[in-house]
Amino acid sequence: MDARAMLAVALEEARIGRAEDGIPIGAALFSRDGELLGRGHNRRVQDDDPSVHGETDAFRAAGRRRSYRDTVMVTTLSPCWYCSGLVRQFGISAVVIGESRTFAGGAAWLRESGVEVIDLDSTECYELLQGFIAEHPEVWNEDIGE
Ligand SMILES: [Zn+2]
Repeated sequence: MDARAMLAVALEEARIGRAEDGIPIGAALFSRDGELLGRGHNRRVQDDDPSVHGETDAFRAAGRRRSYRDTVMVTTLSPCWYCSGLVRQFGISAVVIGESRTFAGGAAWLRESGVEVIDLDSTECYELLQGFIAEHPEVWNEDIGE
């Protein structure tokens, strides 16, 4: 799989979120052979809905599937516990992470659980989110439950 090409789609979603004055975290669900199944971004602020994370938005956009074994969740930021739980619940077998410097999330737990985790440590993802956090620290703290 081309992890960088997949991350580019998630990053585009994060930028859409930023343009909407939302938390700039984007995600996409792909098949392992690179077919885009769904994409989305965090819309906590836009929809006043704390359950709409990038990953859940992309997951819902992908619709129903019999199995998620052959899918890859791509996200600009290491998935939180809620989204890591989603990966485990549905048996998504791989996760591509833009960065885990801002937030470590459940990446280590996913690895221990046998999920293939690729962390690209993208400066673009990091700087996009850090720019938002510097402007809106209270929104960020609310999002991560602190
Ligand atoms: Zn999440």
